[in-house]
Amino acid sequence: VTGRPHERGAFDPVGAMLAQIRADNLGNVRGEVASYIPELSSADPGHFGLALAGVAGSEYHAGDSTVPFTIQSISKPFVYALALTDVGVDALLAKVGVEPSGEGFNAISLEPGTGRPANPMINAGAILTASMVEAHSPGERFDRIRSMLSRCAGRELELDTAVYRSERSTGDRNMALAHLMRQAGVLSVPVDEAVDVYFRQCSVLVTAEDLAVMAATLANAGVNPRTGDEVFDPLVTEHVLSVMATCGMYDSSGDWLVRVGLPAKSGVAGGLVAVSPSQFGIGLYSPLLDQRGNSVRGVAASAEISGRFSLHLMHRVKRTAPSFARVDATHPPHPVTGEVGPGVVVLNMHGDIEFTTAEHALLAVKARSEGPQGETALVVDVSNVTACDPVAVLIIEAIADELAAWGLDVVTVDEHGRRLLRTKAEFLSLDDALVFCHQRAETA
Ligand code: GLN
Repeated sequence: VTGRPHERGAFDPVGAMLAQIRADNLGNVRGEVASYIPELSSADPGHFGLALAGVAGSEYHAGDSTVPFTIQSISKPFVYALALTDVGVDALLAKVGVEPSGEGFNAISLEPGTGRPANPMINAGAILTASMVEAHSPGERFDRIRSMLSRCAGRELELDTAVYRSERSTGDRNMALAHLMRQAGVLSVPVDEAVDVYFRQCSVLVTAEDLAVMAATLANAGVNPRTGDEVFDPLVTEHVLSVMATCGMYDSSGDWLVRVGLPAKSGVAGGLVAVSPSQFGIGLYSPLLDQRGNSVRGVAASAEISGRFSLHLMHRVKRTAPSFARVDATHPPHPVTGEVGPGVVVLNMHGDIEFTTAEHALLAVKARSEGPQGETALVVDVSNVTACDPVAVLIIEAIADELAAWGLDVVTVDEHGRRLLRTKAEFLSLDDALVFCHQRAETA
């Protein structure tokens, strides 16, 4: 074999991009390591790890991506998903809002009168949310939380007892928040129990690589791409991602959404997750924090990843139009009949068909105001369609009905025989469909 020598494993363009982004931000040493939880102050400010996990199961990393640290507030969206699953949206919304507070993570953001915390991403809302996870005892409650976090990470996660004890003995402000909610009548378990479970959930050890897989589980509609484990319902995941988008970065949530444009969550140990829905999860670790308790290098690197990978939620997505092919004399003759009749139009659709893709087809048909131009049949070939949204099915079937009213035969081809569309007939191959259409045209 000739050619350039190739180092095994060196072909990793995504990993190389992450390494470049890490190098770009490594010199940024602004910020401070959190010290209000004494045990956190021993973190190495030099650590900086990045990881990315795709929904198809690929994983990439750069730097200190296997250094363990406590998950802290990044546990909040996941515990929120668990509580939503347990008690349902209405019961949870009755107790915890979904409005950005515009205040810090430990603010006393309780609705006057009801004592309802503003959202589940600030401490008050998170303590209350954790207390709603169904269990017979606080021990069982934490076990369920740890097992859910482990399922999202795709491996068994452990508790950092030193950090847990450290926070337990200094967590007066969180105790105070719980007392206020207890007094207002929203917190239904004793204060001690509620904060104990919360302190434990914050003290679960993760790495940037774990965070990437956890975020990818959210990106992948609740299914862990590493293990295939269906951890959350897709609707629960959508709900959680929405709250992360508006409240995940505390009082810099607006700034974050403008700059990075992804649902995200930070933690005071220096971790950060960001989710690109349907694409991948990002996990970052750098313990130097800004005034708001967000990782300085984590935020900067996320902005860079978002820009370079074109991930901003408001970024324009270009959808490919389905292609139309008019089958006529230029089409190779049919292998069995040896002939090709004119007038059969093939609509070739591929990928995930959503509103806009289906609408392309609709506009093309509507543009033909003069009606049929000698066509006798429309063959909709969906063999390469991976998924079809209900709204797209509706539009394509309306097109089929309209063309049938023009007097055309409308049939489907699907080599998988899925019957995605309700048409006169479905064939397993284009050839079979063409034979059918041509015979119909001859006997007409
Ligand atoms: N355990 C931390 C606290 O309650 C979590 C805060 C955070 O990560 N922002 O103070």
